[in-house]
Amino acid sequence: MVVGVLALQGDFEAHCRVLRALGADCRLVRTPQDLDGLDGLVMPGGESTTMTLGIEREGLAEPLRELARSGKPVLATCAGMIMLDRDHLGVLDMVARRNAFGRQLNSFESDLDLSGFGETLRAVFIRAPWVEDAGEGIEVLAEVDGHPVAVRQGEIMAVAFHPELTGDPRVHAWLVERIHAAERAREAA
Ligand code: GLN
Repeated sequence: MVVGVLALQGDFEAHCRVLRALGADCRLVRTPQDLDGLDGLVMPGGESTTMTLGIEREGLAEPLRELARSGKPVLATCAGMIMLDRDHLGVLDMVARRNAFGRQLNSFESDLDLSGFGETLRAVFIRAPWVEDAGEGIEVLAEVDGHPVAVRQGEIMAVAFHPELTGDPRVHAWLVERIHAAERAREAA
């Protein structure tokens, strides 16, 4: 199993460490060719303006859209969540509001009830977005102060926090499990 991690900017190495610990191979993605043959993808956090420029520069916008729309499992975190919204790559039917929790609350931690993930999950938020204006296809998995911070649309999960920083592998394990499920579905077909 090969999982790509978009590596234009941000904390991609930490995602690779979690994925490797879960038994997946990790490939850093910097060009459209790097997407070839991937089983799934992580879009990490970072700075969304810089990331947008990098995606444009490398000609990655259309290839990333295609991968996400092909039904391959994708996990997006923080700035990665912003990249997938209607105002950016247009993959998820929602708008992510940047730095939504405000200046006073640059960073915070919270115990989240993430629907379908068992016991509460410690979540680290760093200048995090929240989700606004979610369409019908968006399932909200967790909220903070009434604002969605974890959503799912089909095989795509987007979270406003940083699951690569806490040592709890459950969010990445979801991605790995969805890839196994896709494999099983192919074998059964
Ligand atoms: N606030 C950042 C942005 O808008 C995202 C923060 C993050 O990914 N940790 O780009």
